[in-house]
This record gives sequence, structure tokens and C-alpha cells, in this order.
Amino acid sequence: MNSLRILISGGGIGGITAALCLARAGFEVLVLEQAREFHEIGAGIQLSPNCTRVMHHLGLESALRTRACLPQGTEFRQWRSGRVILRTPLGEEMINRFGSPYYHIHRGDLLRVLVEAAREVANIELRTGAEVEGFTQDATGVSVALAVGSERGHLLVGADGIHSTVRARLWGDQQARFTGNIAWRGVVPSHRLPSELIRSVTGVWWGPKRHLVHYYMRGGDLLNCVCVVEKAGWEVESWTAPGTREELASDFAGWHGEVQALINAMDSASLFKWALYDRAPMSQWGKARVTLLGDACHATLPFMAQGAAMAIEDAAVLAACLKIGADLPHSLRRYEDLRRKRTADVQMRSRRNARLFHLSGPLAWLRNLTAQSAGGRTMRDLYAYDALSAANYPENQIKGANGE
Ligand code: FAD
Repeated sequence: MNSLRILISGGGIGGITAALCLARAGFEVLVLEQAREFHEIGAGIQLSPNCTRVMHHLGLESALRTRACLPQGTEFRQWRSGRVILRTPLGEEMINRFGSPYYHIHRGDLLRVLVEAAREVANIELRTGAEVEGFTQDATGVSVALAVGSERGHLLVGADGIHSTVRARLWGDQQARFTGNIAWRGVVPSHRLPSELIRSVTGVWWGPKRHLVHYYMRGGDLLNCVCVVEKAGWEVESWTAPGTREELASDFAGWHGEVQALINAMDSASLFKWALYDRAPMSQWGKARVTLLGDACHATLPFMAQGAAMAIEDAAVLAACLKIGADLPHSLRRYEDLRRKRTADVQMRSRRNARLFHLSGPLAWLRNLTAQSAGGRTMRDLYAYDALSAANYPENQIKGANGE
């Protein structure tokens, strides 16, 4: 099927990674991005071994290594006393156990690495200012209607994010449920922090009805913070709604001095908030010559840091299914069969973490007691998955390919 022309709606992390994987498999790819330029929000992202394995396979290791930080571990801490509940190693341990590193990187830097790599590939065309409005399909291909003009290809991949137009055209508007959680993001220039706070670890603070995660990016010059609070009365699902430092400080009043120091040092222009919505796993993603990928089909609460990782895994499995399959709609269904269970699992576990992270009293004590063994199992399930070989599973072993 190597002569296929593949249209991708959406040039985010998932869409561009899919373009790279599909081009490497020999297909011609056109990425249609609605924005005038490829852009990511000014925040960080964690990339675990299950997705860095794919990115290194695409030849991106040296570009990533020069821009990413390699954290040495994660420290889970008690909100008020600062006591370390659990330490888990990352750094060399990830490479030794899973064969690939764990990175922290600025989202803008990650997207730049992907876009620059895609621009070097002859069979990828990247087009910005190209909003996909709808599509029709027949036995030989898909015609995509753009805000201006149209395109035709053999198949369409909707990688157009949480508010996906392709998903809406396939299945109608999907009901999302407000989880009662607001996520804040903020960035701290490291020079504003006392030196004892500058350590190469991810900090995760657990407290009643809220938690906070921070880690370094841009060679340690910036600290990325995500602060999650259970809160009603404000329900805007967008990373671009500004917030104030006063509101964030009052959300974390009474927390440990290090948390106060972080909030005080945050760049107020970098403070934004997002009401977190939850979507149930979908029982089917695409139809015939159209499929979905990334947040478009499995938007995930950020409590496992796996949303982009799942999109990157999708990209590798989709390309492999199309490369080895003979019949196009069948290959797309096989891709979905290989991916639905694993991504739904991550959605459900992330949902459960939202409750676990915010426990108090005896339940928090019990969580802390079992955190070590539960964390070890989760890491193994998530990070050992090899998206590059998943498509080789025989039909009757698809359970195994889902990482079970
Ligand atoms: P998007 O990044 O949303 O990209 C979609 C693209 O499609 C955009 O460029 C958009 O402009 C374009 N588009 C939309 N509509 C159209 C249209 N009609 N036509 C053309 N183009 C269109 N994941 C991790 O793996 N690790 C983390 O540490 C992590 N942290 C997170 C922290 C928070 C607080 C949140 C909210 C999420 C986090 N995630 C993390 C999840 C991750 O950000 C997402 O899963 C990931 O960005 C999804 O990528 P995507 O390409 O599917 O969608």
C-alpha cells in the first residue's frame, strides 16, 4: 500500500509524529494545520520511555538530548510537612530497565524538533492555515473540505486534538464531564529560586483536594509547574485562560514553604488555568478510510503524564499496520483494535489517580503505604510497551499487544 496519499488533520505532537512514522513507512503525507504556524503552549511535558523509544527510532535522539533535561528521579512529598513519601529513580534506571530515557522538555522545543525533522523529509508536506471543516469518503478515497479549498487522499487521520472536528463529523458532539478539577500551569525562571530548590528531580506534592507537580526544562533554566485543585464555579476548557498569582497562592495556602517559594517566584505572565474535563473511552474510533489519533480519540486527564505518549505510540502502530496490511479499511480497524484497550486503560487509571492524589486522613496513609509497589507495577505496564513491534502481533494475540 506504499503509494497511498495520507491526509492528517492537525499538526500537534500526535499529528507530526504520525507524519514522520508514516513517511518512514514509505507513504506520502500531507499535514493540514489550522493555525498560521506550528505552535505549542509555553509549558513543559514529560516524555516516558514508551514514547522516547519511538522518537529515537525516528532519528530524533540527538535533537531531543540537546534540548531536554534528564531527571534523576521523582520525589512524592507530603503537602504540609514536605516529608518524602516515596522516591522513584528515573535517569540511568529508565535506560537500563526499558532501553530508553525519560525526558522533560519544553513543549515548544519538542514541537520544533518534530517540525524541523518533518521539513527534511521529501514525502511530507506541512501546510499551515489549513482548517479542516469536514470530509466525504467513497470506495477509493477521502475528500477533505478546508476553510479554503479542498484536498483528496486515500485516507484521513484526525489528529486534531481534544475538540476534534474529524471526530465530531464521524460521531457527532461528544459529551464531556467537568471533573471538578482546575489545572494551573506556571513557569518559574530558575534564577529566582533558592539554590536548594534546584535539583534534577520531578517533585510531586500530594495534599487534600489538590496536588502539584514541578520539573525542570530548557537545560534547567526554567521550572515547569502544574498545580491541580478541586474547585467548582469556573469551567473553561482552555490552556489560554489567564489566572492570577493571588488566586493560585490562596488555593495552596498552608502548604509547605517550598511550594510557597515556587508560587511566589512564578512568572505571572506565564500563569494560565484549564478546567479539566473527562471523556469516556470510545468503543470505535473511525469508519472506513477515516481514523483518529491522540487526544482526538482518547483525551486523558494529565495524572499519569501519558496523553502525548499515547498519541506517539498511536503514530507508530498506525504506520506499521498500514505498512504490513493489504486492505486499507481493515488495516485501520486493526490499528484501532491494537490501541483501544491500552489507551482506555490509561484514561481510566488517570481518572483514578485524580482521586488517589487528593486523599486525606487514613486513606492517604494507606495510599502512602502501598505507593511503592503500585508505582512499580504502573511503570512496568506503561514503559515496557513497544509500539514499534505491536503491529506484528497475530490477530489472536491482540491482548498481548495492548500491554497486558
Ligand atoms: P493537540 O496537541 O491538541 O494538537 C492538535 C492540533 O490540531 C493542534 O495543532 C490544532 O491547532 C490542530 N487542529 C485542531 N482542529 C483542527 C482542524 N479542524 N483542522 C486542522 N487542524 C486542527 N502528556 C504527556 O505525555 N506527558 C505529560 O507530561 C503531559 N502533561 C500534561 C499536562 C497537562 C496539564 C495537560 C492538560 C496535558 C498533558 N499531557 C501530557 C497531554 C498532552 O498534552 C496531550 O495528550 C497531547 O498534547 C495531545 O496531542 P495531539 O497532537 O493529539 O493534540
